[in-house]
Amino acid sequence: MALERTLTIIKPDGVEQNVIGDVIRAFESQSFRIVAMKMLHLSKQQAEGFYAVHRDKKFFGSLTDFMCSGRIVVMALEAENAIERLRTLMGATNPAEAQPGTLRKQFATSIERNIIHGSDAPETAAFEISYFFGKMEIVG
Ligand code: ADP
Ligand code: MG
Repeated sequence: MALERTLTIIKPDGVEQNVIGDVIRAFESQSFRIVAMKMLHLSKQQAEGFYAVHRDKKFFGSLTDFMCSGRIVVMALEAENAIERLRTLMGATNPAEAQPGTLRKQFATSIERNIIHGSDAPETAAFEISYFFGKMEIVG
């Protein structure tokens, strides 16, 4: 197992529902180390840049509207096997399919409004962390 970093976002629906604390509590209780954190309100263009990998999907317009509809909290997390462990804690993209105890099962309201993002691979984690954080903002 390697010590990894991953990028997570509490999406606008999570901030709106006042579950920032619940999400951070879950990270801390599972020994994820927060190495960078900030609150942002993305522009449409910034949301499109972040989700560029999905630009050909039919939900791209709606997803990027949603992601710039309100405040978000962006964090870089560090842990052994962080990428896979965060995905497990998040649960399935569609909350109807998410396992009990996962963050999406608890808080998500639809396949789009699913409260949290997590990187899906080491390459995407590196891109996504550098999209939001400069070197001096990551406290290793
Ligand atoms: P994940 O966030 O689980 O990695 P994807 O990378 O497949 O999921 O999709 C990115 C985000 O796009 C999802 O978290 C969700 O907000 C939205 N999304 C995914 N699939 C759909 C869909 N079929 N309809 C609407 N929004 C979707
Ligand atoms: Mg994804």
